Amino acid sequence: MQLSSSLLENAVNEFAKLPGIGKKTALRLVLHLLKQEEDHVHVFSDSIREMRAGVKFCRRCHNISDGEVCSICESPTRKQRVICVVETIRDVIAIESTQQFNGTYHVLGGVISPLDGIGPDNLHIDSLIERVEKEQTEELIFALNPNIQGDTTIYYIQKKIHHLPCKITTVARGIAFGGELEYADEITLGRSLANRLPIESYMKPM
Ligand SMILES: [Zn+2]
Repeated sequence: MQLSSSLLENAVNEFAKLPGIGKKTALRLVLHLLKQEEDHVHVFSDSIREMRAGVKFCRRCHNISDGEVCSICESPTRKQRVICVVETIRDVIAIESTQQFNGTYHVLGGVISPLDGIGPDNLHIDSLIERVEKEQTEELIFALNPNIQGDTTIYYIQKKIHHLPCKITTVARGIAFGGELEYADEITLGRSLANRLPIESYMKPM
C-alpha cells in the first residue's frame, strides 16, 4: 500500500498489527480518526496509553484490575470460597456476561501444552493450589477450553489438590470439543455452568 504521507503510513502499520485488522481496515480507521476533532483523537490515544501504564493484575486471581486486588475478589456479595478456573481474562469476561456465576475466578494464563513448551511452572497453578489450601475453598469449577491441553491441566491440578476437602467440578460439555470458550454464545456458556459435572464423571472414559 503506497501512501502519500509517511505519518499516515506509520499509523496504518500500527493499526494493522491489531488482531483481525488488515491493511484496508487499518486505513479506514486511520482516515476516520483524521476526520475527528484533534481533542477527540487525544482522548482516544490517552485512554490507550493510560490503560497500558495503569492496569494491574489482581494478586489473588490474576484478573485484570485497577488496584492490587480486583473488584470481584473484593466483593462481599460473591462467594469467595468458590473459584472458577479459566485460561484467560477473556474467559472471565465471557462468563461474567452470562450473569450465572457468583463466585471468584483464577486466571491460569494458559494451559499445560508440552508441544508449545508450556509447563505447569509457566502458569498460575502454584498460586491456585495455595489459594485452595489457605482459603478453605469449597468448590473449584474448571471452565477451560474443552481440548486435550485443557483436560491435561485439569488432571494435573486435580492430582495436586485431591487430598483437600474441596469439591472439584467442570463446566458441562455444552461447548463443542476443540471449540473456544470465548466464542460460545451466552446461553450455551450459562447452561454449561449451571449443569457442571463432578470431576469423576467428566474424566471417565466413554
Ligand atoms: Zn481478583
